[in-house]
Amino acid sequence: MSKINTIAFIGLGNMGGPMAANLVNGGFAVTAFDLSDEVLTQARAQGCKTVSSIGEAVQGKDAVVTMLPAGKHVRSVYIGANGVFANAKTGALFCDCSTIDVQSARDVAGEAQKLGFSMVDSPVSGGVAAASAGTLAFMVGGPDAAFEAAQSVLEPMAKAIYHAGDSGAGQAAKICNNMLLGITMIGTAEAFVLAKKLGLDSQRFFDISANASGQNWSMTSYCPEPGPVPASPANNGYKPGFSAAMMLKDLRLAQDAAQSSGTATPLGAEAQALYAMFDSLGGGGTDFSGIIEMLNGNMGKV
Ligand code: NAD
Repeated sequence: MSKINTIAFIGLGNMGGPMAANLVNGGFAVTAFDLSDEVLTQARAQGCKTVSSIGEAVQGKDAVVTMLPAGKHVRSVYIGANGVFANAKTGALFCDCSTIDVQSARDVAGEAQKLGFSMVDSPVSGGVAAASAGTLAFMVGGPDAAFEAAQSVLEPMAKAIYHAGDSGAGQAAKICNNMLLGITMIGTAEAFVLAKKLGLDSQRFFDISANASGQNWSMTSYCPEPGPVPASPANNGYKPGFSAAMMLKDLRLAQDAAQSSGTATPLGAEAQALYAMFDSLGGGGTDFSGIIEMLNGNMGKV
């Protein structure tokens, strides 16, 4: 594939806005489209050209990057009558960075390939801060050639780019990772709540467990208990970070995938139920580590 110079960026919300800005800073000519005028105004201030339709955005561009809420949005943006497929130039590369269900990712990529386009699913790990800093981790699904072509587009936004496998494998990696993250966060929170009830000082428990077999990322990099990890949202009123609503979305995607593949994931199911409860109690907008306050019986504080 020839060198990529021009990019259409569709979906410039909390994540897409800063990602598009990093593509501009990386030397690409970026044309932006979103349904929201507000985010387009911001995109202009960050050096993007803005247009008023998907067609105008993608016509003649070497690549298209999308960062949309869910599978149904991705399907309509790509497959819709006035969508990406109907307007993109032959051979263009598509990178869908949204977190969506595996089946939608496979369906859209399959359709793209039939029409002679290259496509990867390339969901990200890391929240708005990583999107702004250009330090997202991309989990990429798609054929080798599409993965190779996507590298130059993803690099200005990335600290790491992994090739997970064929189409849909990026989404599979993302939801399996986040299912594990949700489970370890709840487990870590439970351990701190119980330790405190047993009269154990939280910092001392951290010092022991962080160096023992209970050690995990949710504890040592993102501790839900205020104190031990200064940069964690627990020390900032559980301001996200990565919101509990986003975690719930990913846990639901994991449960859908478990159901459709006939896989038993009892802890994943329980994590989904607990985050749904946290959300219904008003915790959805707080960081996902704030679930410790529900386990503390202390929802008033989050
Ligand atoms: P967001 O709601 O802030 O942004 C989505 C944007 O898509 C909005 O600006 C919306 O107007 C636009 N949009 C929706 N339908 C459209 C259409 N048909 N045409 C054009 N634009 C359209 O969401 P976000 O937080 O930026 O998340 C985007 C994706 O990234 C989601 O799939 C999410 O799961 C994933 N993600 C988010 C985070 C996070 O911390 N926010 C972290 C990792 C992954």
